[in-house]
Amino acid sequence: MRGRFPRTGASPVIAKPLVFHRRRSDGSLAARLARAVSGDVLFDAASRGRYATDASIYQVEPVGVVVPKSADAVRAALAVCRDAGVPVLPRGAGSSQCGQTVGAAVVIDTSKYLNRFGALDLDAMTVSVEPGVVLDRLNAWLKPQGLWFPVDVSTSAQATLGGMAGNNSCGSRSIAYGNMVHNVLAIDAMLSDGTEARFGPERDMAGAPARIGELLRGLHAIAERERDEIERNVPKVLRRVGGYNIDVCCPQGERPYTADGRVNYAHLLVGSEGTLAWTRLLTLQLAPLPAHRALGVVNFPTLYRAMECARHLVDLKPSAVELVDRTMIDLARGNPAFRPVIERALIGEPDAILLVEFIGATREDPVRRLKDLVALMGDLGLPDSVVEMTDAPAQKALWEVRKAGLNIMMSLKGDGKPVSFIEDCAVPLEHLADYVDRLTQVFARHGTRGTWYAHASVGTLHVRPILDMRRDGAAKMRAIAEEASALVREYKGAFSGEHGDGLVRSEWVGWQFGPRLTKAFEEIKDLFDPAGLMNPGKIVRGTKMDDASLFRFRPGHRTQALATALDWSAWDVQNDPLAGTLTPPGTGGDPAQGFAKAVEMCNNNGHCRKFDAGTMCPSYRATRDEQHSTRGRANTLRLALSGELGADALTSAPVREALDLCVSCKGCRRECPTGVDMAKMKIEALYHLRRAHRLPLRDRLIAHLPRWAPRAARLPWLVNLRNTLPGAAALGELLLGFSARRRLPAWRRDTFLKSVHGSGDDAGMDADVVLFVDTFTNYFEPENATAAVNVLRAAGRRVHVARAIGADAEPRRPLCCGRTYLAAGLVDEAKKEARRVVAALAPHVERGAAIVGLEPSCLLSLRDEFLVMGLGEAAQRLSESAFLVEEYLAREHRAGRLDLRLTALPQKHALLHTHCHQKAFDAAAPVQQVLSLIPELEVEMIEASCCGMAGSFGYDAAHYDVSVKMAELALLPAVRGALRGTLLVADGTSCRHQIADLTRPSGRREAIHAIRVLERALSPRSA
Ligand SMILES: Cc1cc2nc3c(=O)[nH]c(=O)nc-3n(C[C@H](O)[C@H](O)[C@H](O)COP(=O)(O)OP(=O)(O)OC[C@H]3O[C@@H](n4cnc5c(N)ncnc54)[C@H](O)[C@@H]3O)c2cc1C
Ligand code: SF4
Ligand code: SF4
Repeated sequence: MRGRFPRTGASPVIAKPLVFHRRRSDGSLAARLARAVSGDVLFDAASRGRYATDASIYQVEPVGVVVPKSADAVRAALAVCRDAGVPVLPRGAGSSQCGQTVGAAVVIDTSKYLNRFGALDLDAMTVSVEPGVVLDRLNAWLKPQGLWFPVDVSTSAQATLGGMAGNNSCGSRSIAYGNMVHNVLAIDAMLSDGTEARFGPERDMAGAPARIGELLRGLHAIAERERDEIERNVPKVLRRVGGYNIDVCCPQGERPYTADGRVNYAHLLVGSEGTLAWTRLLTLQLAPLPAHRALGVVNFPTLYRAMECARHLVDLKPSAVELVDRTMIDLARGNPAFRPVIERALIGEPDAILLVEFIGATREDPVRRLKDLVALMGDLGLPDSVVEMTDAPAQKALWEVRKAGLNIMMSLKGDGKPVSFIEDCAVPLEHLADYVDRLTQVFARHGTRGTWYAHASVGTLHVRPILDMRRDGAAKMRAIAEEASALVREYKGAFSGEHGDGLVRSEWVGWQFGPRLTKAFEEIKDLFDPAGLMNPGKIVRGTKMDDASLFRFRPGHRTQALATALDWSAWDVQNDPLAGTLTPPGTGGDPAQGFAKAVEMCNNNGHCRKFDAGTMCPSYRATRDEQHSTRGRANTLRLALSGELGADALTSAPVREALDLCVSCKGCRRECPTGVDMAKMKIEALYHLRRAHRLPLRDRLIAHLPRWAPRAARLPWLVNLRNTLPGAAALGELLLGFSARRRLPAWRRDTFLKSVHGSGDDAGMDADVVLFVDTFTNYFEPENATAAVNVLRAAGRRVHVARAIGADAEPRRPLCCGRTYLAAGLVDEAKKEARRVVAALAPHVERGAAIVGLEPSCLLSLRDEFLVMGLGEAAQRLSESAFLVEEYLAREHRAGRLDLRLTALPQKHALLHTHCHQKAFDAAAPVQQVLSLIPELEVEMIEASCCGMAGSFGYDAAHYDVSVKMAELALLPAVRGALRGTLLVADGTSCRHQIADLTRPSGRREAIHAIRVLERALSPRSA
C-alpha cells in the first residue's frame, strides 16, 4: 500500500532525491476520472505533494486527488477507481494526527463542495449534513436556534463532520456529551462495490439491500463468536477510539453507545477512518446550547496533586476539566496579551491549574456548583485554591490562553519537534497521577520532555515528547511508545483515546485488542470492502509506526543549498529539549540558510483553513483550494526546497501558482499556530523567481512606482486619462494586465511633500514626532498627511516630516519603505529604499523621537521586513520607535500625556475596517481606542479578513474575480449594511480603494483614514 517516490538522478546537494512523478498508468486514470467526475481532478506532482501529508509525521504520495462536486461525482469516482483497482482515501480537512489521511490512493477531498446542510428537525434536535461541513460553520448556523453539535474538538474551525466521524473525534466536553460515536444517529454510506445504504438503528435497517443484510449477519456472527474476547479486551474507558467498534452489539464502554441500549450500525462506521465505507450524509444528535457557564480555576502546588484530585472533581459533574501545566502557564505569562488573563487565574505560583467548567439552564445552577467545587477543594486539603470566574468574557479569554499555550509549544524552532504518537492514551482517573509521573520519567530517560495539557476529566492528557525524526527520533519513539503502552496496560487504559490509529497506531491495534480481535477486525474489513480499496493500511494490516520510509522528514533529509535574499538565520537553529534552549541563529545546519527550516515550521494542522474570526487565509476562504491555503503553500515550498518536486522547483510554475493568490496579508504570521509567515516567504520565493524569469511589464511598473512617481505627479492629468478616456482602461488591460473593471488611484499635483519640502531645510532635531510619509499617501491622498500634522500639533507635538539625507540618497526623491519592490521580489532594490529610510530616521531615533506613519503596510515594514534585510542595529532601534499614528496617540493617552481636545461629530457611529497588517501587528485596537476618544462616537470594528485589494493584487485583471470574492466574504456586506451617515473608516489605502470601487455600482461608499476623523473632531481651539 505504500507509494514511495522513485529515485531519480543523483544531485550533489540533495541527499534524498525523491520526486513526486507521474506514474505510467496515472495519465489514463486521471483522464477517466476527469471524464466521469464533476469536480476537480488533480494529478500533477505539486497537487499530489500537497495531499501527501496531514497533521502527522508521515508523508505518502497519493495516486491523485479528486475534489467532487456532488455525491454523484463520488459515485463516479468510486466506480472508476474500482474498475481500475486503485484504492481511494476519503479526506476532510486532513487534520488527523496519526496519518489517517495519507496513503497511496486517490484522495477524495470533501471539504470544497460537499458542505451542504440537510434537514434540521428542531423538535428532535437532529440535523443531516454532508461530510465536508466544518464544525464551527455548523454551530454558527445552529446558534440562532439555541442548539449546537457538542463534540467540540480543538480543530473545530477546520475539522469536517465526515472526518470527525471517521476518527470518532472527542471534544473537551466529552465527559458531558460523549464522543462522536455517542452523537451520530445515522450514516448514509457507499461501499467500495457501489452498494449504498443508511446505517442506523437496527430497527430501521429492514429495507436495506441484500448485500447489507448479509454484511450485518456476518458482523453479528463475528461479534457473537468473539463476545468473551470483546468483554476481556475492549477497553472500558470513555475515551477509546482504536480498532473498530466491534462492541456495537455488546457495548463495553462506561457510556453506552445509544440511550436505549439498542444497536446502531452507524456506530461501527464511526472511527473506521474511511476504511469501511464512504460517508455521504451524517445525521447528528444536537444539544441545547448551554445557557450559563461558570469556571473554577483550581491552583495546585504540584502536577501530581492536580492529577490526583481530577477523579474527585468529576464527581461534581462538570462539563470539562482541562489541565494547564507549569510550562504552559509560563508561556502564557511570557506573552503580553495573555499575561493579564492568566495572572487573573493564578493564586501564587501553582505548578498546574485545572479549568473546571459547569453549565446550567439557570444562572444560579453553575454558580452553586462552583461553590461546591470550592468546598470540595477545602475538603481535599487545598482551601483557597479556586479562582471563581462567572463572567463570560473572562472565561472565554482563559480558554483562549489554554489554546494559545499549545500553539506556542508547537512553534518550537529546530529539528526536534513535539511528536504526536502517545498524545492521547487514556487511563482511568484513579491512575492518572501515577501515569503522568511515570511517563515523565520515561521521557527523561530518553533525553526528552513533554508538556502536559488537556482532558483531565476523562483521563486523556495530551503530551508530545520532543523528538528529532531526522536523527534518532524513530528509535526513541518506539522505545517511549513501548514503555507508555506497558503503563496503559497496567492501568487498563486505551492506547488511543482520541486521535485514532492511522499509520502511527495501527500496529498497536493487535497489542490493544489481542490476536483474535485483530483477526475479527480484518474479517469486518473484508465484509465491507473485500477488494481492499478503502484507505488500505489503516486499522488493519498496518505498517510499523517507525517505518522511516513513510516519514515526512526521514533520516538524512536534506534541502537544497540556497543563498537567501532575506535573513532567515533565526530559524536555522537546533533545540535542546531538556534544557529548553536554542543554539545561536545560523547554526542549525540548513543549507537554505534557515529558509527551509522556516517553511518546515508548518506542521499541517490545517488551522489556515478556518473561516471564522481573524484574517488567515483570505485566498483559501475565497477559493477553498488546498493549493491556496497557507498549508498548501508551505508544503509546496517545502517540497520544492527538498527537491521532491524536481530540480529548480523553487523557480517553477507550481511554486508561482501556489503563491499567486497569496495577498501577503500576514494573517498567517499571527494566526498560524507555528508562526508560518507566508508573506515573507513569498518575498523570498519571488526573489528567486525573478532571478530566473523576467518580471512582467505590469509588475515592473508597480515595483518601480517610487522612482517614476515624481514625474507622474508633474503631469497628473495625463496619467489619470486611463480612468477617464474611453477605451484607455481596456487598452491598459490588454497591454499591461490592469483590470479594465477597476479605476486606478488618481494622481495628485498637490503632493504633500512638495509643500513641506518647500519650507526650508529644517533638520527637525527638536521634533517630538517625525512623520514618515509613504509614497501612496504623498501622491494619492496628501490630505491624510496634513491631517496627521494637524492632529499631532493639536496634541502639542512638534512635528517634523522625514526626508532623505545624504548625497547618494537622492535627497529630492521622497522616502519609501520599498514595499512595492518587496511585493515583486526585487529585494535588492527594496534594500536600497530601506537603507535611505534607516539613514534618514536614525538620528531622530537616537535622540528618542517617535517615528510615526499612516499607511499600515508601509510603516509596519519598518518593524518587520527591515529586520531581515541585514540593515544592522540602526534598523532594530528604528523598529522599536516606529508607530502607526493611532498606536502613538493611544500610547500617549495611556501614559496620560495626550491633551487632545475633541468635539462630537454629526455622525455618531463609525464602522472600522482595519488593514490586515494592523491586525497582524496588534495595531488594530489602538485605532478603535483613539477614535473612541471622540465624544458620542460609537466605534464598531468589522470582523473581516483581507479586503481583497491588497496593494496591487486586486488591480490585476487575472485577480479581479478572486479579489471581489475576498471582499464579499465579510467586508462588503458590512459596508453595504451600514446606514447612510455612518462613518466608514479604513487606514489602508488599498482597503479604501476596494470599498469605493466595489460599491460604485450600488452607490459609492467612501472610507477615510482614522486620522481624518480625528482631524474633523478637533475642537476649534486646538485645531
Ligand atoms: C492541533 C490539533 C488538535 C486536535 N484536537 C483534537 C481534539 O480536540 N479532539 C479530537 O478528537 N481530535 C483532535 N485532533 C485530530 C483531528 O483534528 C480530528 O480528528 C478531526 O475531527 C479530523 O477532522 P478532519 O476533517 O481533518 O478529518 P480528516 O483528517 O480529513 O479525516 C479523518 C478520517 O476520516 C476519514 N474520512 C473523512 N471524510 C470521510 C468520508 N466522507 N467518508 C468516510 N471517511 C471519511 C478519513 O479517511 C480519515 O481516516 C486534533 C488535531 C490537531 C492537529
Ligand atoms: S500554515 Fe500554519 S496554520 Fe496552516 S497548517 Fe501549517 S502550521 Fe497549521
Ligand atoms: S499572507 Fe495571507 S494570503 Fe498569504 S498565506 Fe498568509 S494568510 Fe494566506
